[in-house]
Amino acid sequence: EAKRQGGARAVVFSADLKARFDSAIQLERELRLAIEHGGLSLVLHYQPQIDRDGHCLGAETLVRWNHPEHGMIAPARFIPLAEETGLIVPLGSWVLESACRQLASWAAQPEMRHLVLAVNVSAHELALPDYPDRVANLISRTGADPRRLKLELTETVLASDLDGLVQRMIRLRSLGVGLSMDDFGTGFSSLNYLSRLPIDQLKIDQSFTRELVRAGHAASIVRTIVALGQGLGLSVIAEGVETESQRSALIELGCSLFQGYLLGRPMPLDAFERQVRAHQALTPP
Ligand code: C2E
Ligand code: MG
Ligand code: MG
Ligand code: MG
Repeated sequence: EAKRQGGARAVVFSADLKARFDSAIQLERELRLAIEHGGLSLVLHYQPQIDRDGHCLGAETLVRWNHPEHGMIAPARFIPLAEETGLIVPLGSWVLESACRQLASWAAQPEMRHLVLAVNVSAHELALPDYPDRVANLISRTGADPRRLKLELTETVLASDLDGLVQRMIRLRSLGVGLSMDDFGTGFSSLNYLSRLPIDQLKIDQSFTRELVRAGHAASIVRTIVALGQGLGLSVIAEGVETESQRSALIELGCSLFQGYLLGRPMPLDAFERQVRAHQALTPP
């Protein structure tokens, strides 16, 4: 009896595995094609980054895969696969090139030219010795102003050799590009690492924002991150701001930059541009 059960389980298990295996291979193949055909099925959405006076300073670009059968696929469903298969490198350069082209196009529009675009960069990309050269090439090829470009890194970059990483980061900053530490507070960065990393911004992880108005330690953590940022001369932005009470709690704790559903969901380009224009019409400079 036990053996039969085990056997049955094994059959079910392996059939399940096979199905998953087929679909992972299939997914990888389709993702590869999507990247090769770039703009046809990959799209960037833009989520506003807002200061305490309500001014839009720019946006974070978030990639979506518009799949012919499955519709809009969120990055959580394909970025991990892209990282495992190395597809993250061509995907990342498609995203960066699109962001740079967008910046170059905004530079010609008076209401848009101040905007900064934040682009997510994977640890795999930043581990490439020639990554800063690739970025430099994309910037010169597209004519984007590097001071309008910000790269968001996560603490997983620290898994690679620190000296090389710091050199690449210094080279990126020498181009004029800003560096922001995404999901800050959830990874391994010790205070020692932090003092060695040439970054411009700490981005408070949304888990702290979410816990902020409940009892607990989140408020102390946020206060500490803000003080750390001030001490190191870095700007601090909070992500995942969904409610007005979270926003006012953040302001009280000294945080002055916000991103989250309260200020705007990630949206297609035309909607983002409309939001920026509508806001400027309300508050002339
Ligand atoms: P992330 O960089 O930390 O981006 C923030 C995520 O939080 C986004 O999810 C965004 O849509 C979501 N979010 C924003 N505001 C709120 C809010 O108020 N409440 C809640 N609950 N969520 C909010 P998304 O777009 O699904 O992206 C997930 C992750 O995928 C990103 O996390 C980033 O790590 C990665 N990703 C997205 N685009 C790219 C890309 O072009 N390259 C790379 N390497 N990674 C990317
Ligand atoms: Mg990010
Ligand atoms: Mg984040
Ligand atoms: Mg995140």
